[in-house]
Amino acid sequence: MHILNYIGGKMREPEGGGYLDNVDPATAAVTSRIPDSDARDVEEAVNAAEDAFPAWSSLSVQDRSRHLLQIADLIEERREELALAESDDTGKPVTLAETVDIPRAASNFRFYATAIEHFASESHAMGKAAFNYTLRAPIGIAGCISPWNLPLYLLTWKIAPALAAGNCVIGKPSELTPTTAFLLSGICMEAGLPAGVLNIVHGYGHRAGSAVADHPRIPVVSFTGGTETGRKIAAAAAPHFKRVSLELGGKNPNIVFADCPYEDALQTALQSSFSNQGEICLCGPRIFIERPLYETFRDDFVERTRQLTVGDPRSAGNRLGAVVSQGHMDKILSYIELARDEGGRILCGGHRVREKGRCRDGWFVAPTVIEGLPPDCRTNQEEIFGPVVSLLPFDTEEEVVTQANGTPYGLAAMLWTGNLGRAHRVADRLHAGIIWINCWMLRDLRTPFGGMKQSGVGREGGFEALRFFTEPKNVCIRM
Ligand code: NAD
Repeated sequence: MHILNYIGGKMREPEGGGYLDNVDPATAAVTSRIPDSDARDVEEAVNAAEDAFPAWSSLSVQDRSRHLLQIADLIEERREELALAESDDTGKPVTLAETVDIPRAASNFRFYATAIEHFASESHAMGKAAFNYTLRAPIGIAGCISPWNLPLYLLTWKIAPALAAGNCVIGKPSELTPTTAFLLSGICMEAGLPAGVLNIVHGYGHRAGSAVADHPRIPVVSFTGGTETGRKIAAAAAPHFKRVSLELGGKNPNIVFADCPYEDALQTALQSSFSNQGEICLCGPRIFIERPLYETFRDDFVERTRQLTVGDPRSAGNRLGAVVSQGHMDKILSYIELARDEGGRILCGGHRVREKGRCRDGWFVAPTVIEGLPPDCRTNQEEIFGPVVSLLPFDTEEEVVTQANGTPYGLAAMLWTGNLGRAHRVADRLHAGIIWINCWMLRDLRTPFGGMKQSGVGREGGFEALRFFTEPKNVCIRM
């Protein structure tokens, strides 16, 4: 496959003519080439978006909604093709892409296509003296930069509200996982989305991505990715006074009290540890277990982890596929070494998995469970973003809240208990933007989504995203 940029309604070669290899992490084979775009391609995309903006922003909400619904329908129709592409790019099991990633990408478009019809602004009466109403206009061109772990799911989570609100968009998918964004370009052409409304520029973050973050005519940037990249984007955007939304890394705690619904807690902990090879920002790699339950939970958890099958993402039976790249596998394995150096005991996993046949050169890591590490060591503080979890016993509610909050991150937290009072009390004290009580990854797209501390700035989801992508203006009328 020859991947191209999507600019001004057309598939375009990169201005510089250079291409990067796109590699399937399950086989280490080059599957396609992607444009090595630079500031010139971003400039072309900005020009196309500026041309498209007056007509798109003045379309009726119903017409914009119809375009987005058409895109959602086509994503659903092409679910299998998109899921296979997502699996080949990321290494994730194709069944996961088919049941989670791709349906969610369609839902993102459908949700915002309908949400925009219900989006209303505020009015404030000043007694009989005056009356205020707030207008919310599209801002202009939005830059949407997304990561590799949930490629189409997270790109569309930004694009859909930005377009619904009447902006034109420059999307910059991860250079590691470009294919579904490229297929989305074709879908938008087929759906009749007007030229220049959505533009997708492929390539490296430091080249194409930074040209988006730094461009003076892109006034709003929505970014999901690592905390260090978020810092660079915030710095690039600051001199332009851009509006920025940052969804960054995490090191989420999963707190299991002894009075929890045990089977649910155990089974869900397995998912929140190893789904998508642990490469989900919402995974819970620090599992705190109340001491009376510790040994039982640990032994059952390790036994079930050993039963998880790792291998070819195209085989329906495998629960874990490959991790996204050789570099990422090396990073994960180096953290396992660090855990050993820090005094951790590896209870299972702890090594690369070598496959046979089609996937013999692929980058697979065994699901790994570690115990015996203090909460403040690097393994328990830094984001590993792989199938590696650490088990930590605790004695009191006070102690576990302090330890759970004791990282620079604050994205999500899970807690398991049968005590309603404790559930509310602990949820209130945890420093995280998303708290799940007795569940994980139950998502209602209307709710605010995002993190505290170094996990991000701003919230996505529901009307939060529509507010982010619009400029409020207050009009005051004296009666
Ligand atoms: P990354 O930060 O390396 O890259 C993300 C995107 O930013 C890519 O498109 C990349 O090309 C681009 N980029 C890189 N450098 C850039 C620069 N200087 N300027 C502009 N763009 C640049 O992240 P990743 O490795 O792709 O994704 C993994 C990270 O994403 C993890 O830290 C994970 O926690 C985080 N993440 C967060 C959420 C969330 O909702 N908070 C969701 C998913 C992933």
